Parts: sequence; structure tokens; C-alpha cells
Amino acid sequence: MERVKEEIERLRYLLEEHNHRYYVLSDPSISDQEYDALMHRLEELEAQHPELITPHSPTQRVGSDRTEGFATITHRYPMLSLSNTYSYDEVKDFYERVCREIGRDVEVVAELKYDGLSISLVYEDGVLSRAVTRGDGRLGDDVTANVRTIRSIPLRLQGEGYPRELEVRGEILLPWVEFERINQSRIAEDEPPFANPRNAASGTLKQLDPKVVAARKLDAYLYHVPGEQPELPHTHYERLACCRRWGLKVSHATHLCHSLEDILAFLDHWDAARSHEPVATDGVVLKVNSIAEQEELGYTAKSPRWAIAYKFKAEQVQTELLSVDYQVGRTGTITPVANLAPVAISGTIVRRASLHNADFIASLDLHLGDTVAVEKGGEIIPKIVSVVPSLRSVSAPRVGFPSVCPACGTALERIAGEAAYFCPARSSCPEQQRGRVEHFCSRKAADIRIGPETIDLLFEHGLLSDIGGLYALEEEQLLGLPGFQRRSASNLVRSIEESRERSYSSILFGLGIRFVGETTAKTLARAYPSIDELSAASQEDLCAVPEIGPVIAGSVVDFFAQQSNRSLIETLRGAGVQLSREVTEQSDSGAESVLSGLSIVISGVFALHTRDEYKALIERLGGKISSAISSKTDYVLAGEKMGPAKLAKAESLGVRILDEAAFLALIEQGTDDKHKH
Ligand code: AMP
Repeated sequence: MERVKEEIERLRYLLEEHNHRYYVLSDPSISDQEYDALMHRLEELEAQHPELITPHSPTQRVGSDRTEGFATITHRYPMLSLSNTYSYDEVKDFYERVCREIGRDVEVVAELKYDGLSISLVYEDGVLSRAVTRGDGRLGDDVTANVRTIRSIPLRLQGEGYPRELEVRGEILLPWVEFERINQSRIAEDEPPFANPRNAASGTLKQLDPKVVAARKLDAYLYHVPGEQPELPHTHYERLACCRRWGLKVSHATHLCHSLEDILAFLDHWDAARSHEPVATDGVVLKVNSIAEQEELGYTAKSPRWAIAYKFKAEQVQTELLSVDYQVGRTGTITPVANLAPVAISGTIVRRASLHNADFIASLDLHLGDTVAVEKGGEIIPKIVSVVPSLRSVSAPRVGFPSVCPACGTALERIAGEAAYFCPARSSCPEQQRGRVEHFCSRKAADIRIGPETIDLLFEHGLLSDIGGLYALEEEQLLGLPGFQRRSASNLVRSIEESRERSYSSILFGLGIRFVGETTAKTLARAYPSIDELSAASQEDLCAVPEIGPVIAGSVVDFFAQQSNRSLIETLRGAGVQLSREVTEQSDSGAESVLSGLSIVISGVFALHTRDEYKALIERLGGKISSAISSKTDYVLAGEKMGPAKLAKAESLGVRILDEAAFLALIEQGTDDKHKH
């Protein structure tokens, strides 16, 4: 039973992490299929042990893409998902079911399924008044300002005959060429590239600055007018034709089918033809044409019963396996990565593919020089799905797996029940240390402005061997390195100095304790106000903290049990890095009372500080950030371009709205008041 609990907890932890990466960071690290497999396993275990289901389990909620900083809008009609099918047989089942339930052969509209993010647009008197993301299906984010920058979405409808209020739904997309262009510039600026156009489109739409959105040329297709609306035509196909007349962009790949044969012919045609589309597509959507028949067929909690999505098989191409690298991650896990002869798939050039682990390599019976089939289903990391053994040369050596760490030569180990090998030489393995330094410097951790190449350079020149070493770096040492000028050297040293001001929880996250992501670090920092108290906690103590289970607790205890980690903490302490909450509280103690217990909503864009800085400041001063305005909100910190809906809501509830200057004055004043007492 303990093992089941542990597995459930680990799955929940992983799913939450991947959810966050997907929805919040728009930077997933696993494919949808892998995510589904984890979710499936969790559902299976929870079905066997329903007593272990908690309201916080990822199985208990529908995925949401809500982001803080946008006003919340309730959808008039819920934005549902579509049920998926993967075979012609299932399509046939769907068609037969709807015909049977309606009692005659029905017309079905077949459309390409665009792989972006769904949007609901509302036109009032022909003028675009609101654009809202799907969110959790019921509540979405008001992204009107950003959607206004999309050229293919008309701000005003053309022609006549549109209803006073028209809602249309569709998909926001980033064309392949734009996707490539943006990723190239992100790589040049040391920012992680977007995994696929869908994430790029969603990351773009969630930008708080519409200027950034305008610079990335998003596109949109509209494909649905929800609701019975008697003044509109009574078929989906005619409604789409109306939308076209009103100047809305409706896909040319839309066909009215009268039989199963028509439907299958559409699927056949677009499976191949979609590769010429300028935007990502991942299937075909089939919708019963008559609105009355749609209503008759109805809905499940998750999706309409009158529509279905047929997903294309991921696009595959063949290429040659040139070599295999074995990468050492910061936790010591060894990940094999295939280097491929460059090949174009779904609009991008693929050069590398993950090989996951030793078992995966063995299951493919991979040999160097093999011709391999590579797949990228609108997905993140391309995958090798099969090998063509008939094209293998007789002398091709089999791809093996190293028995020692490629970075430090230590014999690799494997934890029972886990697929990955890892290097146990945690502190003496230079690659792991390098990875840890990189993680420690990342924005959400110590926020030290240093790119991976510079970290490599410092390691190569012996100037750095672990996180603690960062705080011993001097400008003069850096000046001797290739590419360093006085300015870049002093910038780096300053950035390291500034990291001393980073909060205890950010540093805790930066330490890279296994399973301790950003949120868990905050939870731990809240429960244990100093690292000394945290490091003294037993596994049992830690398990008593809400949201901390045995896996995380074990990992924390294990971390602090290692001498090398304890000496790292001492080095950081000596360098003046914040390792407790008290330090922050003391320095801001005067102002602390001003915000403690207050609920604050941040909205708009700011001139004096970034939004993240305000967020950190408020949290540091004891305030609580919330995303939506309610009667519980104490203040709205309003920058420029605060959404009109938010403004109206704040005003109607009588919530105080402070601009930047007033907010900063409030904090100052609080400090003075406190000092006076
Ligand atoms: P899924 O997210 O896999 O459940 O698929 C449902 C999503 O497909 C919808 O929420 C839409 O965002 C998207 N979609 C793309 N093209 C279409 C289309 N032609 N009709 C309906 N939905 C579409």
C-alpha cells in the first residue's frame, strides 16, 4: 500500500510539474502522449484505490490555461473539448451512431483541425468587443488587447445581417515561418526556444504587452458560432458561409459531406495535403451540420456528442542516425540523445532526437548509421519510432549504453524500478555541477544573468566548479577569458552580487533538490522560515506539511544529509545569500505591516518596476497576490492599459485602485509610520 501511495504521489508531482510547464511556461518537456500515459496510470491507480483520491489530484480537474494578470470572463456557452479518434473504424462508429440517433443519414461538415489555442470572439454591433481564451472551459482570460493585434481578425465586421451580438470561436495560430523566425531570435538571445507553434502562440497571447504580440504575426481561423440563435442560419455550414461574408477568416479546408465515403475521402486527402498548410494541423473535426440535430444529440460533460476529432498519425520521415550523445543531467540522470542527419518535419529542421534510456535503445536494436523513422506529432522533442534494419550495413556497430559516466568516469547505477541510469558521483561529477550551476542561475532561482556558454567557459578555465564558486568570482579573473570585456565582466559580477537579495524560497528552488520545484520550494520556505530549520527536519516532520509527501520529504532529507550540500549552504551563508525568511522580514520590517494579510490584484503594464518585481515585493511585504478582483480584494495595483472589465469590476466593488506612485507611497508611508511608533 505504501508503494502505491508513493507512486500516486510521484505521478501527481510529475503531472503538476508538466502541467505548469505546458500551461504556464508554455515550455513542455514531454510529449502529449507521455503526459497522457502518466495521467492514465494515475487514473488507473486511483480507480483501484478510490480512498486515495484527493481534491488536489490532477485527475480531479480539467486542464486550464488561465494566467494571472488577465481579467476573468465567464463563457456564455462553455468551451468544451472534442472527443478524439485515431482510426477510420472509430470515425465510422461515430457516423453510424449519429445517423442512428437522428434516425436518418445526416450531413456532416469536415474541417481541418488546427493546432493552436482556442479563442472566443464577441462582436457587438459588428465591432470586436471581447476575446477570451478557453481557460478551464467555463472561465477564460480576457486577451482582447492582444487579439486586436492579429491582422486576420477584423475589428469590425463587413457586410450586413449579423446579429447585434455575435460570438464566434476559432483557433489562434502562429504560422510555421514565424515560429522559426521567433525561435531563431530566442536562441540568439539565450532564451529557450518554443517547443512548437502551439506553445509559441499561447506564450505570445499571454504576453502582458500587446506590442510584443503585434511583433509576432499571429493568425486565426474561425470555425464555430455557438448557440441556437434563431436569427442565424440553421446549419453549421451556412453559418460558416455567413462568417466568411462578414470578413471572418474561415478555412478553405471545409467540406460538406453527405456520406461516410465523402468523410473518408476528406481524411485521405488532407492527411497528405496538410503538409502544405502554413500553420500546424493535427487532424480533422467532423461536425453534424444541422444545429437542430446537434441540439438533439446533445453534450457530455466534456464534449459535444455531435462532433468528433480524428487525429492524424504524426508525420514521419526517414533519416540517418549519425551518433549518440549521453548527456548528464544535474541530478545525474544519463539521457541518450541521437544526432541525426538534418531532415525537415512539420516545417522544422530536426537534428536531434531523444532516445529516452537504455531500454528504449535496446528495444529498437539501434545501430550506428541506421536509417530511422522520426516522428514529430506537433510535438516537442522528435522521437525515433522505428528502424529500417534492411538498410543496415553489415559492419554497423550496435548502439550500447556506457557503464561509466561520460563526464567523470564513475560507474553508473540504476535505481530498481526506474528506467534511467544515473551517475552517483553527485558533487565530484563536473557535468552535474555544471547543470546545477545553470539551474541555480536561472531566472526563477538566483536570477544570475549568465548563459550556458559562459558557464561552460568558466568550468573549462577552472574558475568555477560548483554553485558556491560563483560568489568567489572576481572581475579581474573574468577579464582574462575569451569574449569578456570590462563591461560584461562587471555586469556578471554585479548580477551575482544582486542574487544575494533573492528570496530564501528562490534560493531553495535554485539548490536543485530533486522533486522540489518552484511551488514546493515556496511551501517549504513557508513551513520552515530558515534553511537551518529545514535541514534539521526529519522525514516525518516534513510529511506533516500540507502538500509534502514521502517522496519529496525523502529527497529533502537526503539532500541535507550530504556533506557536500551542507558545505555549499555554509559557502552561501558566508557569501551573504539569503537563507532564511527573517532576513527579508528584518530589512523590510517597517513596511511589513502595511501589506500583511492584504489581498492585491496587479493589472496592466508598469513603468518603474516590472510586474514580477511588484509581485515579489508584495509577497515579501506579507501581501497576497490574487488574479481576480473580488469583494475580498483590498487593492488593485493598476498600471497602464488596465483591462476595462477589471476596472469596471474594481469600481463596482469599491476596491481601491492605486497607480504605481500611490502604491510605492503607501509602502513608504507604512515604513515611516512604523518607525514613528
Ligand atoms: P482537443 O483540445 O484535442 O480536445 O481538441 C479540441 C480543440 O480543437 C478545440 O478546443 C479547438 O481549439 C481545436 N480545433 C481546431 N480546429 C477546430 C475545428 N475546425 N473545429 C473545432 N475545434 C477545432
